[in-house]
Amino acid sequence: MTLQERLDDVLGRIATTTRDAGRKPDSVQLVAVSKTFDAETVRPVIAAGQRIFGENRVQEAQGKWPELKAEMPTIELHLIGPLQSNKAADAVALFDVIETVDREKIARALAAEMTRQDRYPRLYVQVNIGLEPQKAGIAPDETAAFVALCREELGLKIEGLMCIPPADENPGPYFALLAQLATYAGVDRLSMGMSGDFETAVAFGASSVRVGSAIFGTR
Ligand SMILES: *Cc1c(COP(=O)(O)O)cnc(C)c1O
Repeated sequence: MTLQERLDDVLGRIATTTRDAGRKPDSVQLVAVSKTFDAETVRPVIAAGQRIFGENRVQEAQGKWPELKAEMPTIELHLIGPLQSNKAADAVALFDVIETVDREKIARALAAEMTRQDRYPRLYVQVNIGLEPQKAGIAPDETAAFVALCREELGLKIEGLMCIPPADENPGPYFALLAQLATYAGVDRLSMGMSGDFETAVAFGASSVRVGSAIFGTR
């Protein structure tokens, strides 16, 4: 399959699952994860109409996206990887959505930078949904309190929750838990589902899915 065919296939599967779940058409956005692929590879996907992209490293994104955004200003770029405080300024300057607010220190750094730059990327809180030691994120039972702290103490608008369920387990219960936590925390959007499980995520209420290899090929 060509890149265009793989993109169409993923969009078609999202549309079918959305309809089968009785959800409104266009209620699920595709974040095309372009990490490790260069600007040359990404361009045809932009030409095919895709506008929302995800990157997991600030520095890598800085190497390709300023140029691509200049060519297509309606691009929406999501940071989906861990963020260090010393990269908060760069992240605020480049990204339109930061999905990985995963601790108080980074929330404070982002709040300060957003005020300083007068630029306000939309924010998601990353939840360590399987409480895995090697993964970043707020513990499930601390999520509502952390969202409240971000909003009330730091003045951050938190739009949604993001998670990466444990590999090699049925992701459904983890997606269901994230949806429940969003309700408790009072946030509307759910970023969940990757190449291997995005249809399950859509069935459990994802508002965006982050799909890389199913579009761009193996990394
Ligand atoms: C790489 C990555 C993805 C995409 O993974 P694929 O399996 O290639 O679709 C999604 N989310 C995050 C956080 C990632 O780092």
